[in-house]
Amino acid sequence: MYTDPVCGMTVKDEKFYVDVEGKKYYFCSHQCLQKFKNSPSEYSWKDLYELVIIGGGPAGLTAAVYASISKIDTFFITNDIGGQVIDSSKVKNYMGFDFITGGELINKFRDQFLHEHFLDHKIDEVIELKQLKDRFEIVTKEQYKFYSKAVIIATGMKKRKLGIPGEKELARKGVSYRSVQDIGLFKGLDVVVIGGGNSGVQTANDLNKNGCNVSIVTKGEMIADRENIDKLKKDNAVTIFEGHDVTKILGKNKVEGVVIQSEKSNKTKTINCEAVFIQVGFLPNTEFCKKLVDLNQAGEIEINYDCSTITPGIFACGDVTNAFGKRIVIASGEGAKAALSVKEYLLAKQK
Ligand SMILES: Cc1cc2nc3c(=O)[nH]c(=O)nc-3n(C[C@H](O)[C@H](O)[C@H](O)COP(=O)(O)OP(=O)(O)OC[C@H]3O[C@@H](n4cnc5c(N)ncnc54)[C@H](O)[C@@H]3O)c2cc1C
Repeated sequence: MYTDPVCGMTVKDEKFYVDVEGKKYYFCSHQCLQKFKNSPSEYSWKDLYELVIIGGGPAGLTAAVYASISKIDTFFITNDIGGQVIDSSKVKNYMGFDFITGGELINKFRDQFLHEHFLDHKIDEVIELKQLKDRFEIVTKEQYKFYSKAVIIATGMKKRKLGIPGEKELARKGVSYRSVQDIGLFKGLDVVVIGGGNSGVQTANDLNKNGCNVSIVTKGEMIADRENIDKLKKDNAVTIFEGHDVTKILGKNKVEGVVIQSEKSNKTKTINCEAVFIQVGFLPNTEFCKKLVDLNQAGEIEINYDCSTITPGIFACGDVTNAFGKRIVIASGEGAKAALSVKEYLLAKQK
């Protein structure tokens, strides 16, 4: 795997490359390759865009394709390409495909964006969104600043943390928040999954299939879809601790176990394990824009029917919003809607 020197995207194939004095550089697209050829040391972006889209999950990628089709002069910034979809081992409810993995689906989205509807873009994290007199300023972690007349926020959600002793200290030493990518690393080992929702149960099922000895711990009862729970309970292959809280992750340089406590009796018990998968829900990614939008009690951005927010020029779509239904097809639809709304907003401003 390579990193595109222009946009910072991970490049998996060797389709677009250039050889400079014996060193090969690989690119995500023909356009990034051209940018590099035109100016190998510094890549120019415009001083002002009509639109900046933040977030590269289904909502942001669809918004990007629609912005490109609608001929809106747009810059696209995201931490990664794919968002939560990367973690989905089975997508069974996206129109057009009876079954597709999250990785395959996102590759199709990515290719459509890069090769059919290209926009200037950068892999980076937005840390601040400011409203200036006649434009928005978007500041990134790498300290770039971009300016635009409108913004689409499509930053989705991140995994919630537990905040218990051992969690931070043992991160990447056996504590994982991801599912698909990390499962292969723990083949055949003793693992504990924390969380009884769909993500937790799907992770437990996948780990079980991977030959792991799995225990799943959840507060109260499991709340995943019945079909997922039934699959988990079939064959008694997974040990289930309902009505338990995990109070501590044990281990010095790597995970060695977890301490769980019964909600009924308060009795504690240690489960020995080599990995812990934490799957206890999600939080909307809104830290950088909190001051400019209204958030509901769940921390989601409140939007109107056309994806507009309380600040004219700021639009939002997908899982980061209060739109009903956290699904790929819904996030994509909302992304398309947001881009079409921006087009109308920009046209109205010109009048
Ligand atoms: C394990 C799992 C399985 C799932 N399975 C299915 C399924 O089978 N079918 C289905 O329909 N749905 C499924 N979902 C839900 C679905 O993935 C989400 O509804 C969908 O991904 C939401 O898309 P989004 O673009 O709104 O947000 P996300 O997918 O969360 O994408 C957000 C994007 O924004 C970026 N970002 C965040 N903050 C910043 C920042 N400050 N600066 C720059 N970029 C930022 C992220 O890196 C990411 O690229 C699943 C989810 C999970 C976790």
